[in-house]
Amino acid sequence: MPLFTIVAGARPNFMKIAPIIHAFQKRQKEGLDVSFRLVHTGQHYDKKMSGDFFEQLSIPDPDANLGGGGGTQAEQTGAIMVAFEKELMENRPNLVIVVGDVTSTLACSIAAKKLQIDVAHVEGGIRSGDLSMPEEINRMVTDSITDHFFTTSEIANNNLRKAGIPEEKIHFVGNTMIDTLMAQLPHFKKPEGDIFQKLEPKNYFVMTMHRPANVDQEQSLKAMIDAILEGTEGLPIIFPVHPRTAKNLQNLGIDAPNLHMCEPLGYLEFNYLVKNAKGVITDSGGVTEETSVMNVPCVTLRNNTERAETIHLGTNELVGTDPSKLRPYLQKIMRGEWKQYQGIPLWDGKTAERIVDILIHSYS
Ligand code: UDP
Repeated sequence: MPLFTIVAGARPNFMKIAPIIHAFQKRQKEGLDVSFRLVHTGQHYDKKMSGDFFEQLSIPDPDANLGGGGGTQAEQTGAIMVAFEKELMENRPNLVIVVGDVTSTLACSIAAKKLQIDVAHVEGGIRSGDLSMPEEINRMVTDSITDHFFTTSEIANNNLRKAGIPEEKIHFVGNTMIDTLMAQLPHFKKPEGDIFQKLEPKNYFVMTMHRPANVDQEQSLKAMIDAILEGTEGLPIIFPVHPRTAKNLQNLGIDAPNLHMCEPLGYLEFNYLVKNAKGVITDSGGVTEETSVMNVPCVTLRNNTERAETIHLGTNELVGTDPSKLRPYLQKIMRGEWKQYQGIPLWDGKTAERIVDILIHSYS
């Protein structure tokens, strides 16, 4: 019986693994002889960035928790590698499944491959070309030792082909994050609290920011928030603050009556707000995929993206990190003149089933 070890470490991983686990469970119920272990690396460990997602997305408790959170990039990578190697030696699987582009993706794929265990990378092949972002390094290193690439777009397929990856290793399957979005859409719920009760549909903005280029320098963070406040013309802005942004925000002492900062929200609450928003301002990658499928205008505060399909076919626009460039984009959203979602191939809610069927077929 094949054993698959599924790795999750940080917030954007949980929505990607949930449908894969559900697809394995479905095949098990149908009587297929297959088993999996879920390993949480502990990269994000608090309730708001981890525990709540397990509950809301019906992810079973992990079989192992590696406690690899905290520290610098290298400390975290090292701690996760050491603990994951031990996990693999005690419970040797046929294949390790990593998702996305976080530190755990990199650390666990290296540990597995060095033990001669196959690696599958869900969301393989995407590239921003920006090596100043740790995520791009994680993607490149992981893809250099991956055996099965599960890709979200034709652009990712072409990146892999250009890198000389043989066609039979590339599986164009779609986007597991969208599987979760489609499955959870009927369960979205308004967050509790006065401020959320008062919001009028399509008359407020949602923003998220956590990339080092935007949040690590206090003055540029302040300049960007000032530009957002100016461009949104007094409409309420809901800003769930990522832990890495919180520290610098406190020092800025921003006081704008329409800017509502709150703790990170649960998945169902956050996407309820996104779905009903007039627009979203973000530097997240995953959020640009969700806004596209929900046909909500989105501006990305980055100079590049690894998800170009969200621009060509979705509702995303790249604004860059210069606050002076933001105004015309926000004016366009205010005027209601935004482009519409065109549909992105295979982002249809069935990606995880395709992945699991390919893997079961390959290892049975
Ligand atoms: N998200 C959430 N609550 C929040 C902010 C984001 O549930 O307060 C979800 C969002 O819907 C998306 C994911 O977190 O599914 C994106 O994670 P993040 O921005 O941390 O990572 P990135 O996509 O930038 O790697």
